[in-house]
Amino acid sequence: MKFKIHYWILIGFVLGILAGVIFKADEKSILIEFKSGNQVKIAEIHSVKIVVKRQETYDTINANNKVDLINIFKRDFENVHSILINDIWYNDVAKIKSDESVLKFISPLGNLFLRLLSFLAIPLVIASMIVGVASLGNAKALGRVGLRTIFFYLVTTCFAVLIGLTIAKVIEPGKKISEQVKSQIEIVDQSIVEEKIKAKGKFDIIDFLVNVVPSNPFKALSQGEMLQIIFLSIFFGMGLTFLEEAKRKLIIDFFDGVSQVFIRMVRIVLWFAPIGVFALISVAISDFGVSILSTLGYYMFAVVLGLFLQFTLVYSMLVWLVGKTNPLRFYSGMREAFLVAFTTSSSAATLPVTFQCVEENLKVPKEIASFVLPLGATINMDGTSLYQCVAAVFIAQFYGLDLSFAQLATIFITSVLASIGTAPVPGVGIIMLVMILQSVGIPPQGIGLILGVDRILDMLRTIPNVTGDAAVSFVVSKLEKK
Ligand code: ASP
Repeated sequence: MKFKIHYWILIGFVLGILAGVIFKADEKSILIEFKSGNQVKIAEIHSVKIVVKRQETYDTINANNKVDLINIFKRDFENVHSILINDIWYNDVAKIKSDESVLKFISPLGNLFLRLLSFLAIPLVIASMIVGVASLGNAKALGRVGLRTIFFYLVTTCFAVLIGLTIAKVIEPGKKISEQVKSQIEIVDQSIVEEKIKAKGKFDIIDFLVNVVPSNPFKALSQGEMLQIIFLSIFFGMGLTFLEEAKRKLIIDFFDGVSQVFIRMVRIVLWFAPIGVFALISVAISDFGVSILSTLGYYMFAVVLGLFLQFTLVYSMLVWLVGKTNPLRFYSGMREAFLVAFTTSSSAATLPVTFQCVEENLKVPKEIASFVLPLGATINMDGTSLYQCVAAVFIAQFYGLDLSFAQLATIFITSVLASIGTAPVPGVGIIMLVMILQSVGIPPQGIGLILGVDRILDMLRTIPNVTGDAAVSFVVSKLEKK
């Protein structure tokens, strides 16, 4: 192959950013669709009154902005009688939505790419993990690899949390917000905030551990419960080592074959990656309201700086000091995975690509990669816990709360736990943040402040999430070789 696949992915990525900037969705305008099928576009709304029919009487509701209008209409659309926007009456309205850019036509391609990756992840994990565990040969080797893995995962996460807390304390992003900006960002739709707070539920470490054991393995498989699937694969792999040679070989060969088929499938999907990455990134950029970036500048700067330090310092130290390898070799081997992590915002969806990079480019043996990577994708999220620390301190500063040492220590511990409990899919980090805020008595409604920029930070924090797993698999394999 002359032109390597990561160059094509990079080209798709850069073109996607350009397309997203050029075909930006209009932040202010809305589209009104009438029951007749006609549409009008309103470039900017200044004033809105919605007349709602309640039995025999009519109520008038004022909406303050576009988001209010869309939400009130959604909630009450059966009763909406007419709407007065900028002094013009509209009747027979069927739908009101934000104006979408032309890129909406290519967004299915991005979804298709995401679905293909997610589709490959679970079978790949099961087949390779069973082979990996069975080939490690005995409980002793497995225990050694397992302990080292968990140890390095904890160490990298502790660094992430420390970096996050230090940066937030030094930069103090929450104290640098002007009054005007405060009123601007507080308009964020409260119903979305409440929804996230409800979604969090309770995180109980004991329950969490008990839940690692599925009561029904088939249910775990069908629901894609990653941690339960990992348990199932390890347990099955261990059981396999007790079989008589002929049978054991038969089953290992079978799963080995399956995993090879899936690895081929990953390669096929990667041919499609440049287009998938183009579609995902262009739609994300075009949807993303750039104006909000300036309002939360310091906060974003703090998170990005922290992620950058974690990404460049912590992992190069690990690879260099423990893995005795030039870190540049490590980073260069991981290029495709970085791009896919950023565009999909999901460590789980990136997993097939992480496997490919770690095994083919970094030469980590399959037995190690297949054990360390899926476990890491599920329980090791350095980027997420770093971001959660910055966000928690930012929100506390915003509300004028001074955090005591005990509170900072609580944030430290809960973000390490949250990293274990966060599902490796887009946007879960902010839900787990609610738990951290509650643990130290910061109002969870504060997530409303940062929701607007969470999408872009989610993309960024997924890169260290994936890199951490790869770096640990790399050093564990080096230590095993010794
Ligand atoms: N998107 C992140 C991941 O998949 C999780 C999060 O922080 O929301 O790694």
